[in-house]
Amino acid sequence: MPKKYVYFFGGGKAEGTAEMKNLLGGKGANLAEMTNIGLPVPPGFTITTEVCSYYYKHNQTYPKGLEEQVKKALAKVEKLVGRKFGDPKNPLLVSVRSGAPVSMPGMMDTILNLGLNDETVKGLIEQTKNERFAWDAYRRFVQMYGDVVLGLKPETKEEMDPFEVLIEKKKKARGVEHDVELTAEDLKELVYEFKELIKKRKGVDFPEDPWEQLWGAIGAVFRSWMNPRAVAYRKIYNISDDMGTAVNVQTMVFGNMGDDSGTGVAFTRNPATGENEFYGEFLMNAQGEDVVAGIRTPLPIEKLKEVMPNVYEQLLKVRQILESRLKDMQDIEFTIERGKLYMLQTRAGKRTGFAAVRIAVDMVEEGLITKEEALLRIEPDALNHLLRPIFDAKEKERAIKEGRLLAKGLPAGPGAATGRVVFHSEDAEEWARRGEKVILTRIETSPEDIRGMYAAEGILTSRGGMTSHAALVARQMGKVCVVGCGALDIDYAKKEIRVNGQVIKEGDYVSIDGSTGEVILGKITTKPSEVLQVLVEKTLDPENAPVYKQFEKLMKWADEVRRLRIRTNADLPKQAEIAVAFGAEGIGLTRTEHMFFEGDRIVSMRKMILADTKEERESALNELLPLQRQDFYGIFKVMGDRPVTIRTLDPPLHEFLPHTDEEIKEFSEKTGIPEEKIRRRISELKEFNPMLGFRGCRLGIVYPEITAMQTRAIIEAACDVAKEGIKVKPEIMIPLVGHVNELKNQEKIVREVAEKVMQEKGIRVEYSVGTMIEVPRAAITADEIATVAEFFSFGTNDLTQMGMGLSRDDYEKFIYKYLDLGIYDKDPFQTIDVKGVGELMRIGVEKGRLTRPDLKVGICGEHGGDPATIEFCHKIGLDYVSCSPYRVPIARLSAARAALLYDGFKKREMVKRTDRKAAKKVKATAKSKSKAKVNKR
Ligand code: ADP
Ligand code: MG
Ligand code: MG
Repeated sequence: MPKKYVYFFGGGKAEGTAEMKNLLGGKGANLAEMTNIGLPVPPGFTITTEVCSYYYKHNQTYPKGLEEQVKKALAKVEKLVGRKFGDPKNPLLVSVRSGAPVSMPGMMDTILNLGLNDETVKGLIEQTKNERFAWDAYRRFVQMYGDVVLGLKPETKEEMDPFEVLIEKKKKARGVEHDVELTAEDLKELVYEFKELIKKRKGVDFPEDPWEQLWGAIGAVFRSWMNPRAVAYRKIYNISDDMGTAVNVQTMVFGNMGDDSGTGVAFTRNPATGENEFYGEFLMNAQGEDVVAGIRTPLPIEKLKEVMPNVYEQLLKVRQILESRLKDMQDIEFTIERGKLYMLQTRAGKRTGFAAVRIAVDMVEEGLITKEEALLRIEPDALNHLLRPIFDAKEKERAIKEGRLLAKGLPAGPGAATGRVVFHSEDAEEWARRGEKVILTRIETSPEDIRGMYAAEGILTSRGGMTSHAALVARQMGKVCVVGCGALDIDYAKKEIRVNGQVIKEGDYVSIDGSTGEVILGKITTKPSEVLQVLVEKTLDPENAPVYKQFEKLMKWADEVRRLRIRTNADLPKQAEIAVAFGAEGIGLTRTEHMFFEGDRIVSMRKMILADTKEERESALNELLPLQRQDFYGIFKVMGDRPVTIRTLDPPLHEFLPHTDEEIKEFSEKTGIPEEKIRRRISELKEFNPMLGFRGCRLGIVYPEITAMQTRAIIEAACDVAKEGIKVKPEIMIPLVGHVNELKNQEKIVREVAEKVMQEKGIRVEYSVGTMIEVPRAAITADEIATVAEFFSFGTNDLTQMGMGLSRDDYEKFIYKYLDLGIYDKDPFQTIDVKGVGELMRIGVEKGRLTRPDLKVGICGEHGGDPATIEFCHKIGLDYVSCSPYRVPIARLSAARAALLYDGFKKREMVKRTDRKAAKKVKATAKSKSKAKVNKR
């Protein structure tokens, strides 16, 4: 028996279900689901993603048995609808639609009306008694097929679309202005002109045989999986190329059969704000992509209530049924053929971060989903949207009063963006690379613009609705976006926008408000988001902050399930304060060196570096001591009884010395140290490879006074704070240790000084001594290192540099090539390289805990705020992750998701329903299990 490659749907029964997305693609699985629910879906079938994988593995051929299965499925469709594929009297027409497990732009455009040829078109005329409609359908089909399958593309830049050129010609010849004024005869002529053009340019006859048409379209879908746009998109979103796409073949229904027909798209809730309202657009007498293409601006869905009250009622029911069955906000496509509603697609709708949070929280409260499901549903990075700035209201008001409001479009992606106008995707990328903030301004966007949209602060279009390409993609990327701003006359050739007699040139500043749709000339200052106003600025009462309230609820749920603790990397009290407001439970890294650049401190620091004798050095260090103590005091005060990890001096000393002649001169004058001496010292400290040079603990080993001073500053500050009744928990962390003896050396100094200070101060504080694990040797000898270290913190920036032999400061020269070629699938400085650097971490945890079972282990590299890395850290049993203050909420959510995914969703579900005792038991076994797993490997 050959494998099953084709899944049928129709007549109230489907072979697939919503769960089969990997096999049937998102579109196919949901068409099956809707059929099973009993919604009106035109019958058809889905060819699985496995066929796509086979196609690429076997030199673009199909598996045995596929043809047979397709034939059978189509026969079933024919029987159901009572029409025959290729029948000149009563032809069955189909659409051929791509559909990967994850929806993505760049895939093959859907082909409609497939099955039409010179014979069947007569049948269509016969059946519909509408000659013009039939020829128009045929015209559209030849046009789409010619472009998408046969690859007829513009030959010159001016040509735009070769078929449209012929249409324009025809209209001129007939002396008409609009497509709709063309007669059946005109359209018929166009069909043959199109075919001729294809023959001329591509050297092939347009296929008359419907079966040849069908296989041509199927092959084109599979080929589109590897087209550059799709590949680029998958790269941005880390989607594997192996997944493959499915193909859906489905009976055509027609929204363009007259004024009792139409087509539309809708969201079951507002995709921008998340509000629980039906949200959509439609066009009467239109087919296919007319709504999303942005060529005619569609009507809001409420209008359908007036035009076709019955269909509207039916849609409201569909909305309710789909949400209760699929338990998520849906993005649906429908067509009305002569007053009858057909559902053509449903999928989980793309949404902004605002909407994601609101919908998830609301659905928990409506009893549709559990808290756990809510947590798993929100991509952690989506929380960034909630932290994104908004316009300063007063300033915006003023700008509007000054007459700077240029136009108003549709608010497609909330947030505020100010930037310079550019018109092309490549320009957006290039300007952004130069550090310019840009607003990508287009008549409409297409999948080619993905990279430019990614680079832009905001996206502005003059055409298209809330469901246009620009709006969909912007929402998904979390970009500020205003669409359908019809008042803007965008001129690509002149690179300008004309609006109300004004001309805006490329490079001019505009501000767009993605929450209101306003487009304003010039810059407008932005203000912190609602969440920040409540938490950080403390200028907003939470009671008046609905977005904040939802955010807070979600964070609370996350905290209930996560096991990882969340700390922050902060060098200043203010940063620490922000992080605590966001929920940080400690500091995972305070870098002491940043403090040395403040004001006059750099002078003392330089004196210390230039000192010839130990005495000179100590005297310079003594100048620094009170300053450091004061810094630490500030941080301890903010952090209270939360742990604070402070790292001793790490960077190479030459980073602190003056560099230019001018700086050297100035410093010499200020301190009386001769210029010549400064220069000599600079050249002494010069290193060929500073990353692997005189830095980290090596400094404290050669100059023990430095470590001693820093320890004194930390412990003195801690004692002072302790005297105020705060239970401080300093953790002193030694950087760049590779050998246990290095740590022993430094630990001895720390312990001696700490003891001395505590005696002087007459109070004891609880402190610990640990190390960064950032040299591969340290990870591999972690068992030895843990004999001394009370805690580890993975410095994954250096661990990646040294583990992969990559210099973070120089890798741009080749990293993009590497990512393009797929040599690395992710930037290893953003997401941990699990197999290599991650393995070093795993070894470090395992060996460290072998020696010291209660060893506390965290991560403080940049990776600590990356969702995928956080998941990994959970898996290998880390105690905490530490990230920048603004990523703390993201880390909290990521940690919760990791706990749910890794420790088992079902188990937690059970916890909720059983008593507390059982909960404890489950927790305990989960813990010992994850520990056992770590130990096993
Ligand atoms: P996309 O993934 O770009 O949305 P779709 O396959 O959904 O592509 O199709 C594009 C357009 O064609 C949509 O408007 C859809 O509703 C319409 N369409 C697809 N199949 C049919 C069909 N069988 N009958 C009528 N319209 C269809
Ligand atoms: Mg669609
Ligand atoms: Mg380091």
